Amino acid sequence: MIPTPGPVLAADLGGTKITAGVVLGSGEVLAVRTVATGAMRGPDAILGDLHRQLRAAQAEALAAGAAEPVAVGMGTAGVVDPASGVITAATDAIPGWVGTAIGPRTQEELGLPTAVLNDVHAHGLGEAVAGAGADRDSMLLVAVGTGIGGAIVRGGQVVTGYRAAAAHVGHVPVPEADGVRCTCGRMGHLEGLASGPGTLEAYRRAGGQAADTRELVARAEAGNALAVRVLDRCAHAVGRMIGAMLNVFDVEAVVLTGGMAGAGQLWWDGVREGAAAEAMDLMARAPILPAGAGANAALLGAAQFARQLEQPKGR
Ligand SMILES: [Zn+2]
Repeated sequence: MIPTPGPVLAADLGGTKITAGVVLGSGEVLAVRTVATGAMRGPDAILGDLHRQLRAAQAEALAAGAAEPVAVGMGTAGVVDPASGVITAATDAIPGWVGTAIGPRTQEELGLPTAVLNDVHAHGLGEAVAGAGADRDSMLLVAVGTGIGGAIVRGGQVVTGYRAAAAHVGHVPVPEADGVRCTCGRMGHLEGLASGPGTLEAYRRAGGQAADTRELVARAEAGNALAVRVLDRCAHAVGRMIGAMLNVFDVEAVVLTGGMAGAGQLWWDGVREGAAAEAMDLMARAPILPAGAGANAALLGAAQFARQLEQPKGR
């Protein structure tokens, strides 16, 4: 097992941006930098930028007096096999991403043991270590933004699943999404209805007009009846999914993050009502909380995953 106190080089690679930094044993994050992913350039160019960012973060942290890093931990878009470090499934947000050996290539490039996991899983682990899930037995992270993703953390370990794809909570059926096509191509899934873009589309289908989701939320907060109804319906659907997940997994707490989690009280009220309506009485006591680990949550989770390299994986 890697000694806990050593610094870990950490990265969070998404469809729009790459963030890298150094996570100290204390949990302090140093030398954070972000560049655009430039997803259309393909995996080779993206990995080149990723490795440059990691090296630059390492140099900056060393210059600031940090010790030599002991490992690399990375969260990435797509499903990644934790054993091989290869991407096994991904959306078309990064063309050609499936099959990319991000783990082995980073290990070779940086000369350090490297652990890779899904970016939402990394985010969830970060919240469990340093955010709203700290000191809790178990939690479900739900990220509602461009898409809807999730992560289950139990006993400090992210439940990656047999195929490393666990907690795809956006792809469960909810009645509010009947007849709505999901980003995965199926009908009636939560994500098609209640992601940020999904919520905006629902408003437009109902006859409303807004330039973006932010404008729709502002209209709802100002009391526009149609905007209120649509936002509430989408939030209620998110809550319904959360209630169902509580019934299945009985986690101690639920933590919400992503753009929609910043949408205000109306949205939160809808989520909490939906969850309370769906969860069985015992599970309905579970607190539903805003994320608390801040902008570096995924880096913290990725670093933690690297520290757990030699420990049994949670399934
Ligand atoms: Zn789906």
